Amino acid sequence: MRFDKRIVLLVLAALAVSALCVRGCKAKFGSSHEVPINIHDALGKERVMPLVIVGSGPAGLSAAIYGVWGNIPTLVVHGPKPGGLLMETSLVENWPGHKAILGADIIKNLQNHVKSLGVKFLNGTVNKIQFLEDTIVGVNFDQWPYKLTTEQGVVIYAMSVIISTGANPKLLEVPGEHEYWSRGVTACAVCDAPFFKGKDVVVVGAGDSAAEEAMQLAQYAKNITILGRKEKLRAAASMQARLKEYPSISVQYNVEVKKIVGDEKGVTSIELYNNKTNQTSVMPINGVFLAIGHVPNSGLFKNHVATDENGYIETKGRSQATSLPGVFAAGDVEDPTYRQAGVAAGHGIQAALDAVSFLNHIGYSPAFAAQLDAHLYKVPAPAHSVPNVGAEEYKATVEKSEGLVGAIFSSLPEYEQGDNNQESLLPDSDLIMVAQQFDDKISFIRVNSAENKTLAHKVHIEDEPCLVVYNQGKFVARYAGQMTREELAHLVQHLVEPASKA
Ligand code: NDP
Repeated sequence: MRFDKRIVLLVLAALAVSALCVRGCKAKFGSSHEVPINIHDALGKERVMPLVIVGSGPAGLSAAIYGVWGNIPTLVVHGPKPGGLLMETSLVENWPGHKAILGADIIKNLQNHVKSLGVKFLNGTVNKIQFLEDTIVGVNFDQWPYKLTTEQGVVIYAMSVIISTGANPKLLEVPGEHEYWSRGVTACAVCDAPFFKGKDVVVVGAGDSAAEEAMQLAQYAKNITILGRKEKLRAAASMQARLKEYPSISVQYNVEVKKIVGDEKGVTSIELYNNKTNQTSVMPINGVFLAIGHVPNSGLFKNHVATDENGYIETKGRSQATSLPGVFAAGDVEDPTYRQAGVAAGHGIQAALDAVSFLNHIGYSPAFAAQLDAHLYKVPAPAHSVPNVGAEEYKATVEKSEGLVGAIFSSLPEYEQGDNNQESLLPDSDLIMVAQQFDDKISFIRVNSAENKTLAHKVHIEDEPCLVVYNQGKFVARYAGQMTREELAHLVQHLVEPASKA
């Protein structure tokens, strides 16, 4: 094989530039914005995170999975609406792999997946995934590492950021809209059209989204009326031509929805105002589909990264890179077109892969990660928590306790799910609530029975999960199987009474 010397020299020069860039360079982006990036600057800060994901919807949580798989300490900041719009959706019938699943369950499954990966990567000292129940309210992207400030005043320095703050549908702000939200009022035909089979519905709006929603609905609803507030549609001519092919779709012009009316079953009618004739009328319908635009939640970032005229963050080519190096965007905050949970999840994955590759490019390596460890941000443990203990700590806790101790043995972590899709054990928050309900007369510990087989054998653990209760160091009772918080509280009630008399 023959090599052209000039090509070899060019490649070597490019490699030299990239190596210099790792040590310190001014990365150019946008029109005139420059931020010097030198990986060693991260070591000069406290509360640093290699990857901060802002927002915890499908894009943010999917990104987190890939951040952890990339072996990158990752922080997910929940935001004001943890889980995003899916938490407000009812049944989702187009999430791949599930014929029908609640929006909230999609988020719960993603959270469980992310958390379980965090434990697998525990690696002795560092948990690779952390969640912060707070909202980013301030950013300073003029210097690297980027500075993020939370609502509760926590300052975090991020080596890379994924913005996955989503978008909210624009609302009409008329009476009945909030009351019947998800009970006839919705902003997603792709998600909800099948629930309106054989019903009469309206689509509010006159743009491309309204046309698309109407065509989507035509497969299910009996009559679809598009309501435009002007005398013509704004949708593209090709869209308007396609609308004509659907006999069940009609358009009313110059009309504004003034009120949404319903009963216990959902929407029954709307009040319409014709701004040309000044007349008001009542239209009996069962569904109101809003297609009056979306507002991307990009306000905090739009002075720092390039956005389009509607505020959607712009990403480069097939990547999720924004105009700022090390800052990526994923999901509805950068996607004016598809706005689907599955697409957001895919973009989240891309963003995390891009972030991992950015970090590697600037010199993030196992050796650097070891140096950074002492500077990492650690989300403070909650005031009360249920400790995971080994054999020695178990013995000490049980023996020293002057009251009741409930030890939960299981080989599954708290958040993993059993085959029957139930929590394998009560979450810590429920255990803490039960302890507090009884004035902290009982404390809980967890034991991973797979990792403490001798102890589990000694305590005669046969079925899991198993709660073993001690009072003042003495064995009291053993309960195998799952239980609800109410069942546990009932049980503790029985235990506390004789225990307090003793
Ligand atoms: P648009 O901003 O294009 O349209 C919004 C529509 O809602 C307008 O007709 C507007 O009315 C109407 N509207 C706004 N506020 C109200 C209100 N309070 N009451 C009644 N009507 C209201 O948003 P879209 O979501 O339709 O589209 C966003 C972008 O995405 C566009 O660029 C669009 O082309 C693109 N898109 C492309 C698609 C495709 O190509 N397949 C599909 C969907 C979207 P008015 O006209 O009177 O201002």
